Amino acid sequence: MSNILSTPIEYLKGVGPKRGDILRKEAHLFTFGDLIHYFPFRYIDKSSYNLVRDVAHHEGAVQLKGQIIGYKEVKFGKGKRLEVVFEDESGRIDLIWFKGGKWIAPKLVIGGWVKVYGKAKKFGAKYNIAHPDMEFLKHEKEDSLGLQAVYHSGEKLQNLGFTSKGIERTIAQLIPQLKNEVDDFLPRWLINDLNLISREEALVKIHQPSNYDEAKKAQLRLKFEELFLLQLELVFRKEITKKRIKGIKLDKIGDAFNTFFNEHLPFELTGAQKKVIKEIRADISTGIHMNRLLQGDVGSGKTLVALMTMLLAVDNGYQACIMAPTEILARQHFETISNFLEKMDLKVAVLTGSTKKAERKILHEQLLSGEIDILCGTHALLEDIVQYKDLGLAIIDEQHRFGVAQRSRLWKKNTLPPHILVMTATPIPRTLALTFYGDLDVSVIDELPPGRKEIQTSHRLESARLNVFGFIEKEIEKGRQIYIVYPLIQESETLDYNNLMDGFESITRRFPLPKYRVSIVHGKMKPADKDYEMQQFAKGNTHIMVATTVIEVGVNVPNASVMIIESSEKFGLSQLHQLRGRVGRGADQSYCILMTGYKLGEDAKKRLATMVDTNDGFKISEVDLKLRGPGDIMGTQQSGILNLKLADLAKDSQIVQLARDKALELVEKDPELKDRDHQNIARVLRAIIKSKPNWSRIS
Ligand code: ADP
Ligand code: MG
Repeated sequence: MSNILSTPIEYLKGVGPKRGDILRKEAHLFTFGDLIHYFPFRYIDKSSYNLVRDVAHHEGAVQLKGQIIGYKEVKFGKGKRLEVVFEDESGRIDLIWFKGGKWIAPKLVIGGWVKVYGKAKKFGAKYNIAHPDMEFLKHEKEDSLGLQAVYHSGEKLQNLGFTSKGIERTIAQLIPQLKNEVDDFLPRWLINDLNLISREEALVKIHQPSNYDEAKKAQLRLKFEELFLLQLELVFRKEITKKRIKGIKLDKIGDAFNTFFNEHLPFELTGAQKKVIKEIRADISTGIHMNRLLQGDVGSGKTLVALMTMLLAVDNGYQACIMAPTEILARQHFETISNFLEKMDLKVAVLTGSTKKAERKILHEQLLSGEIDILCGTHALLEDIVQYKDLGLAIIDEQHRFGVAQRSRLWKKNTLPPHILVMTATPIPRTLALTFYGDLDVSVIDELPPGRKEIQTSHRLESARLNVFGFIEKEIEKGRQIYIVYPLIQESETLDYNNLMDGFESITRRFPLPKYRVSIVHGKMKPADKDYEMQQFAKGNTHIMVATTVIEVGVNVPNASVMIIESSEKFGLSQLHQLRGRVGRGADQSYCILMTGYKLGEDAKKRLATMVDTNDGFKISEVDLKLRGPGDIMGTQQSGILNLKLADLAKDSQIVQLARDKALELVEKDPELKDRDHQNIARVLRAIIKSKPNWSRIS
């Protein structure tokens, strides 16, 4: 960084030690460089003048230029009020100060030129402007039209003069000193290709644009470079990982895979499943470490892909594990996989937080001896005590609940790191996938198993409850099963629990024994009891499953055809989509009914409408991103990536894509950044890499 930009903030004219201190503490502004990167969050349009004549037709504030042709101070309560008569070519208007007029009056010159900004209000028949911003001009021609930048401030900053205007003035002190001090680290060809303005110009224009076009160009340049650096880092991370980390070579297809594929696979794989298995196979057979994200909508058959990948590991003499975020899911994986492999001579085991100590000990031994081929489980798999003979592949299901740190803990389970396959529960918007998993290779299952009928979704109010019950009855007559889900919100756990119990009671009253059997599952039950109830429902022994969101992810009961979600306005979109994904897994027509009360907020309405509108998880995830923002979707553990100064992952998806494409283009052109035109970007990238300890550990 150049000298000027690394100068401590207190040395800027008009700052000094005391105010420098508050800038450091309250706004984390340590240097001139930090200040110039303190960007405005909006602009006030002062790019043109209004005429006095038009003031009556103008809604917001107006900007006028003209002369002072008279003024007087009028007694007003205990003090005085200042009235100034202002005139431009089209007419006259009064400017009024009820307070502070005594500071202004001495500066007034009859015939002097001024620029005035404020809101006009009607008093009787006349308009006037109270407490306008007024700027004295040396002559008529003096002009500084433009947009006025507005900055975030705070009470402590304001107390020392750093209101938005104060910040604007301070930055204006700095701007003349920037000349030739700002490195443009983007390669020439890139700037030309995208027609970007220079970095120096962008840093000036973002603070002092003449019009919105200039402001936009400055923002584009700065947003692009921010996202470009992020993408470049990810692309390099991916490349370097590939080059430096030796992987286990899983190149044999043997008995386990072939026997399963030829003799036990209960259905034909979908084209997308085949494609993805091929991609994975190509990856793990090269001796390079795999880091892959598997995306696929709910019900697209990710589990089977996971299983077949694990069989490849087994065929090469290695073990495999699959980790899920909840106990129920881990156990369900265990059941599913055990069933699939029932007729094969492989040992599958499950390890969760509730596994008994004695059993655990045996598991640990069997893992070490290599007796266990496939291990299913929860976070418990990450514990240091869990050691394998030879772990070749680790699969993480429903990734967004795990952070990067956990991924790297799995790496250490073997001398050569096991291959990593991350499976997401719901599709995530492409922008977020690029940003949060930009260092992973991506495979997408973009096809559902055949014969699935689109789930019919409707929104019903409380008044329709009897109809809904009637509908349930008919579906049960057809031999189908029903889910009824209640929300669980931590803050009011007891209340939620009561709602659930009330609901359960009214359902058992309407659907009584012995004709009907109703299961219930909720968080307060013992794992064994939960499990029992789940099993009853999965086996078709009960007709209705009343549950809290513990069944949210992954549960698979193909005969269930109706999903009723109570108080559905309380659920987020991805959760609703997940829940709906529990039905529509068999060949029957399935239904999702979103029950709500009468009072609905705007966002809730949008969520419900989106659900009724589409079954496409990718579309739903885009709406979700707009409603919630990336922070909420990805969770705070990943918030490091969200420290973007200017770019907004929800709004700037096109720039994200552009940044990704250009980062790839650069690496393809010059993989080691040796070109002269790439020296600056190489230096900036090295600095970023150095500042992230996590990085060097991995690479
Ligand atoms: P998800 O991708 O949501 O994890 P699952 O792996 O649970 O989906 O699969 C959903 C359902 O589809 C399961 O019942 C599974 O057995 C079934 N399934 C998976 N692949 C196929 C296929 N190729 N043909 C038919 N059914 C399939
Ligand atoms: Mg799943």
